[in-house]
Amino acid sequence: MRRLGIIIAGLALAAGLWWFRAPLGEAAYIALAQQRAGRNALAPNSDGRSDGLTLIFCGTGTPLPDPERAESCLLVQAGTSLLLIDGGDGGVRKLAGWGVPLGGLDGVLITHLHSDHVEGLGPALLMRWTGSAARTPLPLIGPAGTARLAAGYNEMLHADAGYRTAHHGEAITPTGGGQFAGRDVGPGVVWNAGGLMVTAFAVDHAPIAPAFGYRLTYKGRTAVISGDTAASPAVAAAAKGADLLVHEALQPRLVAGITRGLAAAGQARTAQITRDILNYHTTPEQAADIAAQAKVGMLVLTHIAPPLPSRLLHAAFLGDAGARFAGPIRIAHDGLVLHLPAGSAAVEADAL
Ligand SMILES: [Zn+2]
Ligand SMILES: [Zn+2]
Repeated sequence: MRRLGIIIAGLALAAGLWWFRAPLGEAAYIALAQQRAGRNALAPNSDGRSDGLTLIFCGTGTPLPDPERAESCLLVQAGTSLLLIDGGDGGVRKLAGWGVPLGGLDGVLITHLHSDHVEGLGPALLMRWTGSAARTPLPLIGPAGTARLAAGYNEMLHADAGYRTAHHGEAITPTGGGQFAGRDVGPGVVWNAGGLMVTAFAVDHAPIAPAFGYRLTYKGRTAVISGDTAASPAVAAAAKGADLLVHEALQPRLVAGITRGLAAAGQARTAQITRDILNYHTTPEQAADIAAQAKVGMLVLTHIAPPLPSRLLHAAFLGDAGARFAGPIRIAHDGLVLHLPAGSAAVEADAL
Protein backbone atom coordinates (compact mmCIF):
# COMPACT_ATOMS: atom_id res chain seq x y z
CA MET A 1 0.00 0.00 0.00
CA ARG A 2 2.84 2.31 1.00
CA ARG A 3 4.70 1.42 -2.18
CA LEU A 4 1.60 2.22 -4.26
CA GLY A 5 1.47 5.61 -2.57
CA ILE A 6 5.10 6.32 -3.51
CA ILE A 7 4.44 5.29 -7.10
CA ILE A 8 1.37 7.51 -7.31
CA ALA A 9 3.30 10.45 -5.78
CA GLY A 10 6.14 9.86 -8.25
CA LEU A 11 3.75 9.79 -11.19
CA ALA A 12 2.04 12.94 -9.93
CA LEU A 13 5.40 14.68 -9.65
CA ALA A 14 6.41 13.57 -13.15
CA ALA A 15 3.07 14.72 -14.53
CA GLY A 16 3.48 18.05 -12.74
CA LEU A 17 6.98 18.52 -14.18
CA TRP A 18 5.69 17.58 -17.62
CA TRP A 19 2.74 19.95 -17.27
CA PHE A 20 5.00 22.82 -16.23
CA ARG A 21 7.85 21.96 -18.61
CA ALA A 22 7.63 25.26 -20.44
CA PRO A 23 7.95 27.58 -17.39
CA LEU A 24 10.49 25.25 -15.77
CA GLY A 25 12.57 25.16 -18.96
CA GLU A 26 12.37 28.92 -19.27
CA ALA A 27 13.50 29.47 -15.67
CA ALA A 28 16.38 27.02 -16.06
CA TYR A 29 17.47 28.58 -19.34
CA ILE A 30 17.41 32.12 -17.97
CA ALA A 31 19.36 31.14 -14.84
CA LEU A 32 22.03 29.44 -16.96
CA ALA A 33 22.15 32.19 -19.59
CA GLN A 34 22.57 34.90 -16.93
CA GLN A 35 25.51 32.98 -15.57
CA ARG A 36 27.18 32.25 -18.92
CA ALA A 37 26.44 35.14 -21.26
CA GLY A 38 29.01 37.89 -20.97
CA ARG A 39 31.56 35.79 -19.13
CA ASN A 40 35.13 36.63 -19.98
CA ALA A 41 37.58 33.76 -20.24
CA LEU A 42 40.37 36.28 -20.88
CA ALA A 43 39.79 38.47 -17.82
CA PRO A 44 43.00 39.01 -15.84
CA ASN A 45 43.46 36.18 -13.40
CA SER A 46 39.92 34.91 -14.02
CA ASP A 47 41.47 31.48 -14.21
CA GLY A 48 44.50 32.08 -12.05
CA ARG A 49 46.84 32.62 -15.00
CA SER A 50 49.82 34.84 -14.38
CA ASP A 51 51.35 37.23 -16.92
CA GLY A 52 52.84 35.40 -19.87
CA LEU A 53 52.30 34.17 -23.39
CA THR A 54 49.02 32.33 -23.86
CA LEU A 55 47.90 30.34 -26.91
CA ILE A 56 44.25 29.41 -27.31
CA PHE A 57 43.69 26.79 -30.01
CA CYS A 58 40.38 27.68 -31.66
CA GLY A 59 40.84 25.51 -34.75
CA THR A 60 43.15 22.50 -35.07
CA GLY A 61 41.70 20.87 -38.20
CA THR A 62 42.01 21.07 -41.96
CA PRO A 63 39.63 21.17 -44.94
CA LEU A 64 38.95 17.45 -44.37
CA PRO A 65 35.54 17.37 -42.62
CA ASP A 66 36.05 16.89 -38.89
CA PRO A 67 33.20 17.34 -36.40
CA GLU A 68 35.71 17.84 -33.56
CA ARG A 69 38.01 20.39 -35.16
CA ALA A 70 37.44 23.76 -36.81
CA GLU A 71 39.85 24.90 -39.50
CA SER A 72 43.06 26.71 -38.53
CA CYS A 73 42.62 29.26 -35.77
CA LEU A 74 44.92 30.34 -32.94
CA LEU A 75 44.41 33.21 -30.51
CA VAL A 76 47.47 34.70 -28.83
CA GLN A 77 47.25 36.72 -25.62
CA ALA A 78 50.30 38.43 -24.16
CA GLY A 79 49.78 41.11 -21.54
CA THR A 80 47.25 43.51 -23.04
CA SER A 81 47.92 42.31 -26.60
CA LEU A 82 45.50 40.04 -28.39
CA LEU A 83 46.27 38.67 -31.85
CA LEU A 84 44.50 36.11 -33.98
CA ILE A 85 46.67 33.91 -36.20
CA ASP A 86 44.56 32.51 -39.04
CA GLY A 87 40.80 32.20 -39.06
CA GLY A 88 39.54 29.18 -40.94
CA ASP A 89 35.94 28.06 -40.99
CA GLY A 90 34.32 27.79 -37.56
CA GLY A 91 37.32 28.69 -35.40
CA VAL A 92 36.46 32.22 -34.35
CA ARG A 93 32.85 31.25 -33.62
CA LYS A 94 34.15 28.63 -31.20
CA LEU A 95 35.87 31.43 -29.26
CA ALA A 96 32.52 33.18 -28.88
CA GLY A 97 30.99 29.98 -27.54
CA TRP A 98 33.76 29.62 -24.95
CA GLY A 99 33.25 33.15 -23.63
CA VAL A 100 36.44 34.53 -25.17
CA PRO A 101 35.66 38.16 -26.06
CA LEU A 102 37.40 39.70 -29.06
CA GLY A 103 36.61 43.36 -28.36
CA GLY A 104 40.28 43.85 -27.54
CA LEU A 105 41.57 42.15 -30.68
CA ASP A 106 44.53 44.18 -31.92
CA GLY A 107 45.01 42.49 -35.26
CA VAL A 108 44.89 39.36 -37.36
CA LEU A 109 47.97 37.67 -38.80
CA ILE A 110 47.59 35.04 -41.47
CA THR A 111 50.16 32.42 -42.38
CA HIS A 112 49.02 32.03 -46.00
CA LEU A 113 45.99 32.47 -48.17
CA HIS A 114 44.66 28.90 -48.33
CA SER A 115 40.92 29.01 -47.67
CA ASP A 116 41.13 26.85 -44.53
CA HIS A 117 43.16 29.65 -42.91
CA VAL A 118 41.12 32.68 -43.94
CA GLU A 119 37.53 31.78 -44.76
CA GLY A 120 36.21 32.24 -41.20
CA LEU A 121 37.49 35.75 -40.50
CA GLY A 122 34.12 37.51 -40.76
CA PRO A 123 33.10 36.74 -37.16
CA ALA A 124 36.44 38.13 -35.87
CA LEU A 125 35.65 41.43 -37.51
CA LEU A 126 32.13 41.51 -36.08
CA MET A 127 33.09 40.39 -32.57
CA ARG A 128 35.85 42.96 -32.32
CA TRP A 129 33.59 45.73 -33.66
CA THR A 130 30.60 45.01 -31.44
CA GLY A 131 32.83 44.21 -28.48
CA SER A 132 34.68 47.51 -28.47
CA ALA A 133 32.71 50.02 -30.58
CA ALA A 134 35.89 50.28 -32.66
CA ARG A 135 36.02 53.19 -35.10
CA THR A 136 39.10 52.04 -36.93
CA PRO A 137 39.50 49.08 -39.25
CA LEU A 138 41.00 45.86 -37.90
CA PRO A 139 44.57 45.24 -39.14
CA LEU A 140 44.84 42.11 -41.31
CA ILE A 141 48.48 41.31 -41.91
CA GLY A 142 50.08 38.55 -43.94
CA PRO A 143 51.98 37.55 -47.06
CA ALA A 144 51.40 39.07 -50.49
CA GLY A 145 47.70 38.89 -51.34
CA THR A 146 46.52 39.78 -47.83
CA ALA A 147 45.53 43.35 -48.73
CA ARG A 148 43.45 41.96 -51.58
CA LEU A 149 41.81 39.48 -49.20
CA ALA A 150 40.97 42.37 -46.85
CA ALA A 151 39.46 44.34 -49.71
CA GLY A 152 37.41 41.30 -50.66
CA TYR A 153 36.10 40.89 -47.12
CA ASN A 154 35.25 44.58 -46.95
CA GLU A 155 33.35 44.30 -50.23
CA MET A 156 31.53 41.14 -49.11
CA LEU A 157 30.52 42.66 -45.77
CA HIS A 158 29.90 46.20 -47.03
CA ALA A 159 26.10 45.90 -46.84
CA ASP A 160 26.22 44.13 -43.46
CA ALA A 161 28.42 46.85 -41.96
CA GLY A 162 25.89 49.47 -43.04
CA TYR A 163 23.00 47.47 -41.60
CA ARG A 164 24.70 47.10 -38.20
CA THR A 165 25.38 50.82 -37.90
CA ALA A 166 21.87 51.71 -39.06
CA HIS A 167 20.30 49.30 -36.57
CA HIS A 168 22.45 49.65 -33.42
CA GLY A 169 23.66 53.21 -33.96
CA GLU A 170 27.04 54.94 -34.05
CA ALA A 171 27.58 54.51 -30.31
CA ILE A 172 27.60 50.71 -30.55
CA THR A 173 28.71 49.91 -34.10
CA PRO A 174 30.34 53.10 -35.40
CA THR A 175 31.11 53.61 -39.05
CA GLY A 176 34.62 52.46 -39.90
CA GLY A 177 34.98 49.66 -37.35
CA GLY A 178 33.39 46.94 -39.44
CA GLN A 179 36.23 46.70 -41.91
CA PHE A 180 39.69 45.25 -42.31
CA ALA A 181 42.82 47.26 -43.06
CA GLY A 182 44.88 44.82 -45.09
CA ARG A 183 48.67 44.92 -45.30
CA ASP A 184 51.05 42.71 -47.27
CA VAL A 185 54.31 42.10 -45.45
CA GLY A 186 57.52 40.20 -46.10
CA PRO A 187 59.55 38.08 -43.72
CA GLY A 188 60.83 39.95 -40.64
CA VAL A 189 59.22 41.64 -37.67
CA VAL A 190 55.53 42.11 -38.46
CA TRP A 191 54.23 43.03 -34.99
CA ASN A 192 55.97 44.69 -32.08
CA ALA A 193 53.76 46.22 -29.39
CA GLY A 194 53.16 45.85 -25.68
CA GLY A 195 56.19 43.58 -25.31
CA LEU A 196 54.90 41.07 -27.88
CA MET A 197 57.12 40.67 -30.92
CA VAL A 198 56.12 38.56 -33.90
CA THR A 199 58.58 37.67 -36.64
CA ALA A 200 57.45 36.11 -39.92
CA PHE A 201 59.64 33.58 -41.70
CA ALA A 202 59.10 31.88 -45.05
CA VAL A 203 58.20 28.18 -45.00
CA ASP A 204 57.92 25.57 -47.76
CA HIS A 205 54.27 25.14 -48.78
CA ALA A 206 54.88 25.25 -52.56
CA PRO A 207 53.14 26.06 -54.80
CA ILE A 208 51.67 28.40 -52.18
CA ALA A 209 54.22 31.15 -51.85
CA PRO A 210 54.82 33.10 -49.86
CA ALA A 211 53.65 31.14 -46.85
CA PHE A 212 54.76 32.14 -43.36
CA GLY A 213 55.49 30.67 -40.01
CA TYR A 214 55.60 33.03 -37.02
CA ARG A 215 57.93 33.30 -34.06
CA LEU A 216 56.30 34.93 -31.02
CA THR A 217 58.26 36.29 -28.09
CA TYR A 218 56.96 37.88 -24.92
CA LYS A 219 58.84 38.51 -21.68
CA GLY A 220 61.46 35.88 -22.43
CA ARG A 221 59.03 33.19 -23.57
CA THR A 222 58.97 31.99 -27.17
CA ALA A 223 56.49 30.03 -29.24
CA VAL A 224 56.93 29.22 -32.91
CA ILE A 225 54.02 28.50 -35.23
CA SER A 226 54.98 26.54 -38.35
CA GLY A 227 51.94 27.43 -40.44
CA ASP A 228 51.39 24.95 -43.28
CA THR A 229 54.66 23.57 -44.54
CA ALA A 230 56.49 20.53 -45.75
CA ALA A 231 59.26 19.50 -43.39
CA SER A 232 61.53 22.54 -43.59
CA PRO A 233 64.89 23.54 -42.15
CA ALA A 234 63.49 27.08 -42.02
CA VAL A 235 61.15 25.99 -39.21
CA ALA A 236 63.98 24.31 -37.31
CA ALA A 237 66.08 27.47 -37.64
CA ALA A 238 63.26 29.78 -36.51
CA ALA A 239 62.36 27.46 -33.61
CA LYS A 240 65.91 27.24 -32.25
CA GLY A 241 65.63 27.05 -28.48
CA ALA A 242 61.93 27.99 -28.41
CA ASP A 243 59.82 26.96 -25.42
CA LEU A 244 57.13 25.68 -27.72
CA LEU A 245 56.91 24.58 -31.34
CA VAL A 246 53.38 24.43 -32.76
CA HIS A 247 53.79 22.38 -35.91
CA GLU A 248 51.30 21.19 -38.49
CA ALA A 249 51.06 17.41 -38.97
CA LEU A 250 49.59 14.97 -41.46
CA GLN A 251 49.97 11.21 -41.16
CA PRO A 252 50.23 9.76 -44.70
CA ARG A 253 49.71 6.16 -43.52
CA LEU A 254 46.23 7.10 -42.23
CA VAL A 255 45.37 9.38 -45.17
CA ALA A 256 46.08 6.38 -47.42
CA GLY A 257 42.90 4.75 -46.10
CA ILE A 258 40.82 7.71 -47.28
CA THR A 259 42.58 7.64 -50.67
CA ARG A 260 41.83 3.94 -51.13
CA GLY A 261 38.18 4.40 -50.15
CA LEU A 262 37.70 7.28 -52.59
CA ALA A 263 39.44 5.39 -55.40
CA ALA A 264 37.33 2.28 -54.77
CA ALA A 265 34.18 4.44 -54.88
CA GLY A 266 35.19 5.78 -58.29
CA GLN A 267 35.98 9.27 -56.95
CA ALA A 268 39.31 9.43 -58.75
CA ARG A 269 39.70 13.21 -58.67
CA THR A 270 39.10 13.52 -54.92
CA ALA A 271 41.38 10.53 -54.39
CA GLN A 272 44.09 12.39 -56.31
CA ILE A 273 43.66 15.45 -54.09
CA THR A 274 44.33 13.28 -51.03
CA ARG A 275 47.56 12.14 -52.75
CA ASP A 276 48.54 15.70 -53.73
CA ILE A 277 48.28 17.02 -50.15
CA LEU A 278 51.04 14.69 -48.97
CA ASN A 279 53.83 16.67 -50.62
CA TYR A 280 53.29 20.02 -48.88
CA HIS A 281 52.65 18.92 -45.33
CA THR A 282 54.79 17.41 -42.56
CA THR A 283 54.42 14.01 -40.90
CA PRO A 284 54.34 13.81 -37.09
CA GLU A 285 57.67 11.99 -37.24
CA GLN A 286 59.26 14.78 -39.32
CA ALA A 287 57.84 17.39 -36.93
CA ALA A 288 59.47 15.46 -34.07
CA ASP A 289 62.80 15.52 -35.93
CA ILE A 290 62.50 19.29 -36.37
CA ALA A 291 61.62 19.73 -32.68
CA ALA A 292 64.72 17.69 -31.77
CA GLN A 293 66.97 19.70 -34.12
CA ALA A 294 65.67 22.97 -32.73
CA LYS A 295 65.89 21.71 -29.13
CA VAL A 296 62.47 23.13 -28.26
CA GLY A 297 60.86 22.54 -24.89
CA MET A 298 57.62 21.07 -26.20
CA LEU A 299 56.12 20.01 -29.54
CA VAL A 300 52.43 20.62 -30.16
CA LEU A 301 50.90 19.18 -33.30
CA THR A 302 47.99 20.95 -34.96
CA HIS A 303 46.32 21.14 -38.41
CA ILE A 304 45.62 17.47 -37.75
CA ALA A 305 45.04 15.36 -40.85
CA PRO A 306 43.29 13.07 -41.22
CA PRO A 307 40.52 13.56 -38.60
CA LEU A 308 41.05 11.41 -35.50
CA PRO A 309 37.61 10.49 -34.14
CA SER A 310 39.07 8.83 -31.03
CA ARG A 311 42.03 9.40 -28.71
CA LEU A 312 42.77 5.72 -29.23
CA LEU A 313 44.08 6.72 -32.68
CA HIS A 314 46.69 9.12 -31.33
CA ALA A 315 49.36 6.41 -31.20
CA ALA A 316 48.76 5.47 -34.84
CA PHE A 317 48.85 9.14 -35.80
CA LEU A 318 52.14 9.82 -33.97
CA GLY A 319 53.95 6.74 -35.29
CA ASP A 320 57.44 6.79 -33.79
CA ALA A 321 57.49 10.56 -33.25
CA GLY A 322 58.01 9.90 -29.54
CA ALA A 323 61.27 8.09 -30.25
CA ARG A 324 62.60 11.02 -32.29
CA PHE A 325 61.97 13.86 -29.84
CA ALA A 326 62.74 13.44 -26.16
CA GLY A 327 60.51 16.29 -24.98
CA PRO A 328 56.74 16.23 -24.52
CA ILE A 329 54.54 15.94 -27.63
CA ARG A 330 50.91 17.01 -27.56
CA ILE A 331 48.20 16.66 -30.19
CA ALA A 332 46.29 19.94 -29.97
CA HIS A 333 42.50 19.97 -29.79
CA ASP A 334 40.02 22.78 -30.16
CA GLY A 335 39.80 24.53 -26.79
CA LEU A 336 43.35 23.71 -25.70
CA VAL A 337 45.00 26.57 -23.81
CA LEU A 338 48.77 26.62 -23.35
CA HIS A 339 50.18 29.25 -21.03
CA LEU A 340 53.87 30.15 -20.82
CA PRO A 341 54.26 32.19 -17.65
CA ALA A 342 56.84 34.98 -17.70
CA GLY A 343 59.99 34.24 -15.69
CA SER A 344 59.48 30.50 -15.79
CA ALA A 345 60.20 27.55 -18.07
CA ALA A 346 56.79 26.00 -17.45
CA VAL A 347 54.08 25.32 -20.01
CA GLU A 348 50.68 25.11 -18.31
CA ALA A 349 47.86 23.34 -20.14
CA ASP A 350 44.18 24.04 -19.69
CA ALA A 351 41.02 23.59 -21.75
CA LEU A 352 38.06 25.82 -22.54
ZN1 LIG B 1 45.87 24.43 -44.07
ZN1 LIG C 1 47.85 25.46 -46.67
